[in-house]
Amino acid sequence: MTENLSALSLHQKIQSGERSAVAVLEETYRRIDALDGKVGAFNSLSRDLAFETAQAVDQKVKAGETLPILAGVPLAVKDNINVKGYPTTCSSKILHGYVSPYDATATLKVKAHLMPIVGKTNLDEFAMGSSTENSATRITRNPWDLDRVPGGSSGGSAAAVASSQTLLSLGSDTGGSVRQPASLCGLVGLKPTYGLVSRYGLVAFASSLDQISPFARNVKDTAALLQILAGFDTRDSSSLQGDVPNYLQTIDQPVSKLRVGVISELNGEGMQPEVAAAFQASLDTFRKLGAEIQTFSIPSIKYAVASYYIIATAEASSNLARFDGVRYGLREEGEDIYNTYCKTRAQGFGPEVKRRIVLGTFALSSGYYDAYYGKAQKIRQLLKHEFDKVWAHVDVLVCPTSPTTAFKIGEKTNDPVSMYLSDIATIPVNLVGIPAINIPCGFDDLKLPIGLQLMGPHRSEETLFRVAHAFEQATGLCNLTPAELSLV
Ligand code: GLN
Repeated sequence: MTENLSALSLHQKIQSGERSAVAVLEETYRRIDALDGKVGAFNSLSRDLAFETAQAVDQKVKAGETLPILAGVPLAVKDNINVKGYPTTCSSKILHGYVSPYDATATLKVKAHLMPIVGKTNLDEFAMGSSTENSATRITRNPWDLDRVPGGSSGGSAAAVASSQTLLSLGSDTGGSVRQPASLCGLVGLKPTYGLVSRYGLVAFASSLDQISPFARNVKDTAALLQILAGFDTRDSSSLQGDVPNYLQTIDQPVSKLRVGVISELNGEGMQPEVAAAFQASLDTFRKLGAEIQTFSIPSIKYAVASYYIIATAEASSNLARFDGVRYGLREEGEDIYNTYCKTRAQGFGPEVKRRIVLGTFALSSGYYDAYYGKAQKIRQLLKHEFDKVWAHVDVLVCPTSPTTAFKIGEKTNDPVSMYLSDIATIPVNLVGIPAINIPCGFDDLKLPIGLQLMGPHRSEETLFRVAHAFEQATGLCNLTPAELSLV
């Protein structure tokens, strides 16, 4: 069965001819058909596209060709990333009927690597949320406990991998939307350095924060998928120039003389006790790996969530202006163009998206700009300086990824602020543009996964992978599968 393999070993079996890519894909869809009614990870499936790719893989294997890395390994894609000829809904009513006329750069890259794209996954509408409950499409459940949320906003992509419907998926992370669901679902999820992965073809939420990001069940598979996604793209003006290192080449190197930093503002205090305990145990693991551990204060962290909700909503209010009933998806005709805009947007957007458009428009309105947006940008700058000072002393910073394990469906839906605080540890990373990875580090009393976040300076993905891999080897916490679902 493929669900017990790593993505890299599945790829090797396909390359060697031991498994056919078509047979692997058939098995994948059998699993999706059997499980997704319960889990709810997918908004739509793209069988034609996936089988076309899998057939091409098998032909190349027969012809004796060497395949690109991860060729033949099925992939799920978050439904805010364009795949040509297939719907992109962003789990919003406003995109009803919209079919992508082009591929995102990330999509082109996975296609060039012959990875079958099996379907598009559910998300909080326009990636706004931390539980996937803001989706207008469906409820996605956490495979570790079907009464609980998978996290969000990339909850569908996380649930797809946690239930082994696919071994790999793509999400997007603006304030934690890959790392937090990875934490709640026992997965690895990496938010790359801002600009490392092209945003072309990702539906913009907050452009200065958004990054397409990979999910997998272990660190090596995550590194392999990032290898495919990373690199300069002329079609994204914020894309980073420069060579991308070969992550898998250095990932096994020992982590001697590692300097690990703890952020005093995110040391587990005030978090769920089991999360705090698992974090302390993780520090012991680092000590056993020979690391030196020091504590630092990053005082502006206490303003990060507030600044984020000004900056992200300001950018969203501008980015979402394009959904006007004229160019994309839904149109509710009014007596004139203005009324068409109003009716379409009133009916098309859900409550959280509206809340954010109103908040963002207010923050940018004349007279308030300096008081809110200007101030939030200053805090962002301050936060950058504070992180930069710490990088002189440490290789990685660590903290719990999420203050709690997966919460119950409905538990936080009436309290947006408590939902916003789910991202207290992930948001600072997006504000300063650095990379960070979530890896599993334990379980709570209900056997729900707990996640650890490792952060590094700009473009330190190679180090993060090496350290995360060493940690994963030391703890054995990888390729986790919820028992209940492995029986299906
Ligand atoms: N949960 C955060 C929010 O609601 C982050 C979302 C994201 O990363 N896309 O904005």
